[in-house]
Amino acid sequence: MSGFTIRWLPGTEAWRPHPHLMRRIEDHYGPKLAGTRVTVWPRSWEVIDDLFPGRNMGYYDVRAVSRDDEVHILVDETETPTSIAWLLAHELGHQRVRLTPGLRDALRDAAPVDVTDKASDEYHEVDPEERFVDGVATKLTMVRKDREWWRERTRRHPHHRMTIVMPRHTR
Ligand SMILES: [Zn+2]
Repeated sequence: MSGFTIRWLPGTEAWRPHPHLMRRIEDHYGPKLAGTRVTVWPRSWEVIDDLFPGRNMGYYDVRAVSRDDEVHILVDETETPTSIAWLLAHELGHQRVRLTPGLRDALRDAAPVDVTDKASDEYHEVDPEERFVDGVATKLTMVRKDREWWRERTRRHPHHRMTIVMPRHTR
């Protein structure tokens, strides 16, 4: 029984996870996430500006975002079908936390007060909700494609250098 819906926008098909992994994720979360809508975007400056208007984001600041019952995932060469399965399981973990008030409040109470930038790598390392959903995603997909793994990939990707040396208006 499938809960969430997922939309693969043109250009993202190559990142579709193996059906076996998708089934594991769907079975795990079940019908409880029936209201959750996932959209998978091809990463570009235009998409980043659409998703984060006025935020002056870097090209590789975020992999995905959960807002209310919406999840947005960005794909490009820094991701693989397996890492997208991991990321999907991670974001759906946030959705389940959101829909489980007791769990949500407990994790929120334990959130760090000295690290406030929720998009930062540092926040992902110390926030208990991030650690919890990392663990769920790793168990479900049997691999750990977390921020540390991804950060290493973005460092090797030419876009990383581009965002450093080029002012934004020349993009
Ligand atoms: Zn997260």
